Amino acid sequence: MSVYSNFNRTSAKKFRENLQADCSSCFGLCCTALNISVSSDFAINKPAGTPCSNLGTDFRCNIHSDLRESGFKGCTVFDCLGAGQTVSQVTFEGKSWREYPETSEKMFSVFPIMEQLYEMMAYVSEALSYEISPELHKELLVQLQQLEGLTKLNADGLAALTIMEYRIPVNELLLKTSLYIRNKLIAKIGNTKNKRKLDYRGTDWMGKKLKGRDLRATDLRGSYLIAADLQMSDLRGVDFIGADLRDANLNGADLSTSMFLTQMQINSARGNKETKLPSHIKQPSHWSA
Ligand code: SF4
Repeated sequence: MSVYSNFNRTSAKKFRENLQADCSSCFGLCCTALNISVSSDFAINKPAGTPCSNLGTDFRCNIHSDLRESGFKGCTVFDCLGAGQTVSQVTFEGKSWREYPETSEKMFSVFPIMEQLYEMMAYVSEALSYEISPELHKELLVQLQQLEGLTKLNADGLAALTIMEYRIPVNELLLKTSLYIRNKLIAKIGNTKNKRKLDYRGTDWMGKKLKGRDLRATDLRGSYLIAADLQMSDLRGVDFIGADLRDANLNGADLSTSMFLTQMQINSARGNKETKLPSHIKQPSHWSA
């Protein structure tokens, strides 16, 4: 029997929570495959396909415990959701690019493709964890099955994928899910008193003072929230897909039911123990107490 035959909200929640990077099973792909330019987040220039000078022969980072102090803050933000270990252990069957250098070019080119498949699986499984219509559930489940199947392709198969072909239908379904869930929340909390605007898609709120604001059910897809003050704000039911939360202050904010929030977004923001996060997001170790 297929694992998807009885796939319900609980299975979806578990699926989403299990999408976690396991660096100990990865051949340091994020530290090697990607092109990273020098910035306040990364202290050196590192071309694509070249191992970072801090990467050990065992694929561990030699400065792991001092990344922020050493000028590599970006490395504490990055999250592949498990794409790295899948490329290493499934696609390339545990054969590393150090042992088999002839595989390196293909391995490094496949990693960003796998990353995108994992990102879509994270969003789709989260969408399936919500109370949505049976039709929407069915359509999302088809996408999740398809995406998971693609992660099992061999390296040539992965390299031949046109990711946009999968992104477009997934994005349409995520938009439908967002609207469905936010409309339900709006109906529950009411929005007649202040007629609060709810569509702030792509808005520029860089550095904006929003402390203590009720932003429930707002659409903040693709918005710029860099260094915004969102302390103690109510962000339940907010759609954060693609929003830039770098250095946003989330101290005491409630994001417990925020939608499509990623670990990378949270890692790039500031927060504290009072910040409420969804179950699939861990509190970053660099957040203040
Ligand atoms: S500094 Fe460490 S974590 Fe960052 S890319 Fe280099 S080896 Fe990887």
